[in-house]
Amino acid sequence: MIPTDLVGVVQQVSTGALPGWDRVDELVHEAHHRHMADQSGTVADYIPILGAADPALFGLAVVDVTGGVHDAGDALHPFSIQSISKMFVYALAIQEHGHERVRDIVGVNNTGLPFNSVVALELNAGHPMNPMVNAGAIATTALMPGTTPEEKWERIRTGLSAFAGRELTLDDEVYHSEAETNQRNEGLGSLLSSYGRLEGDSDAIVDIYTRQCALNVTAHDLAVMGATLADGGVNPVTGEQVVSADVCRDTLAVVAASGLYERSGEWLFEIGIPAKSGVSGGIVAVSPGKGAAGAFSPPLDSAGNSVRSQLAIGYLSRALGLNLFASAPRSGVATEG
Ligand code: GLU
Repeated sequence: MIPTDLVGVVQQVSTGALPGWDRVDELVHEAHHRHMADQSGTVADYIPILGAADPALFGLAVVDVTGGVHDAGDALHPFSIQSISKMFVYALAIQEHGHERVRDIVGVNNTGLPFNSVVALELNAGHPMNPMVNAGAIATTALMPGTTPEEKWERIRTGLSAFAGRELTLDDEVYHSEAETNQRNEGLGSLLSSYGRLEGDSDAIVDIYTRQCALNVTAHDLAVMGATLADGGVNPVTGEQVVSADVCRDTLAVVAASGLYERSGEWLFEIGIPAKSGVSGGIVAVSPGKGAAGAFSPPLDSAGNSVRSQLAIGYLSRALGLNLFASAPRSGVATEG
């Protein structure tokens, strides 16, 4: 574990501001226009219904922390949130149980293995290691308050709705399609139980996880949800405090390290912002203190990340100044060595 000694030290923030509304709007439309003709990638079909998605769909949205909204293309087209749900349920779990308990139960380090790996669990005595892989996400879902599966599910649905600022609903067709082909996730649930790392009936927990993945969102919703994490937990559109600022910081740290499957390090190196993707083609990227981008386009690269969404968010990261690691020399400082 990393040694820390931060008790009583007030959290200060390290952020700037986006350019004005008109400039952001122009850049969002430019990012969309620039990448809409890209035809690369393949639509996921291991969940059968996802294979029917129209590969031409492409939506992009940015929401800033003052509540300014920018939508381009198919930004209001609904799709199932899939893996992107993991980061918001994780935030709700930390809000409920605190930083240490969730860190100990779920972990924060990368497994270095695919998102649905059984081997990763076996190698770590059943410890899920990371909330952005399926085993860790199932363990996180189990932490939701509620004495019945229905109560836990309702907590997730209302919690994610508060992030989105509107009532999110289940896509029944996606839910049933995944529930019928879900043996691998059920296996992960059973394995977690066998190691004593999952409380309750593992099939029931996996069923809630399957439902959370089938919640319908749009690229616009993802931008509002991300902007809530960029704004210290306050939804900048509704004004509701959904989670605490500390929860946002913890969530974004994990997402930065592991949000884009096995390409997470490469993404941070090239683009430099915490982002999470899902197999239906969504990506949400969050710039703390500034705002968030949501993108959706079904064709994926070989790691499972939407191609157009990565391209558009990469453009915005550079053009809007979202890269967490970018700086320029302070003017007036002598440069002689
Ligand atoms: N529901 C999907 C699964 O568990 C989510 C996968 C993803 O988006 O990465 O396989």
